[in-house]
Amino acid sequence: MVQNSPSVLRMLLRGLIRRCAHCGQRGAFFVSWFKTQDRCRGCKLLWQRNMQGFVLGALAINIVLTGAALIATLVVGVVTSYPDLAIVQLLVSTIGVTLVVGVVGYPISYTTWLAIDLIMRPIESGELANSHIE
Ligand SMILES: [Zn+2]
Repeated sequence: MVQNSPSVLRMLLRGLIRRCAHCGQRGAFFVSWFKTQDRCRGCKLLWQRNMQGFVLGALAINIVLTGAALIATLVVGVVTSYPDLAIVQLLVSTIGVTLVVGVVGYPISYTTWLAIDLIMRPIESGELANSHIE
């Protein structure tokens, strides 16, 4: 484990605002909203940390967030329009919320998953030392 690792709360907060969970670098892994680079711009931490299935964890977070937003929108829509359900408005609002949360949450789910991964598997001493290898 590398010395001076940030606290669990700090790593999670950094992940939630799209920063590197380890060094706090803004825009560390995303060149654009959907395009990533392999290493953090600040600490050179490898994005997927040599772990197969890393993307699966990030996608699971995005799916759970999107599904929760969809269900919340559906429940609010049904409760507010009951007993005369406004089907068209419900469809438009749930589809809209699903698209917005899915797209907006895409990079956030990745950096949050990296934070969770760093909490579960702290950085090994050689992980940053080998940062010159591309
Ligand atoms: Zn970093």
